Amino acid sequence: MFAGKTTELQRRIALAQAAGERVLVVKPARDTRYGESEIVTHTGVRVPARSVATLDELVGDIANASADFIAIDEIHFFASEAVAPIEALLARGTRVAVAGCDIDHFGDVFAPFDALIPRASEVVRIHGACHRCGAPSTHSERLSAVTDRIIVGGIGDFVATCGACFRPSRR
Ligand SMILES: [Zn+2]
Repeated sequence: MFAGKTTELQRRIALAQAAGERVLVVKPARDTRYGESEIVTHTGVRVPARSVATLDELVGDIANASADFIAIDEIHFFASEAVAPIEALLARGTRVAVAGCDIDHFGDVFAPFDALIPRASEVVRIHGACHRCGAPSTHSERLSAVTDRIIVGGIGDFVATCGACFRPSRR
């Protein structure tokens, strides 16, 4: 949370566009924080995006077959169902970059990162600053009691913490 993941994804989108690649930007339909048709960083930078309910839509859609590079934000919303469609996109030669939270507010590894990280050609872990001590942040801590694994949260719902300061949600 608040570490700059979407900013890094946007940087890669801009690089691909500058290189003349056909780029498709995708976001989960469940993430409605900023409207349906763009990805937005916490500092307000916006990039147009297609909102999908499942990544299977990308594999089945002929229009997406022309994309050289597909960038998917908030990939954890798709959980393990993201893995097969991403493998299908890679198999047909599409480059894929994803951004999301790799540890949930219980402190567990967040699917699909358990499956994607071993397959990835590059993994970048981006750290913000721990809300309590200022050390590099690795976790997202839920500020109020909740049992759902996926919560559409913004400023005020979560804080970024380091592993030492992290207090996991109770199940
Ligand atoms: Zn800390």
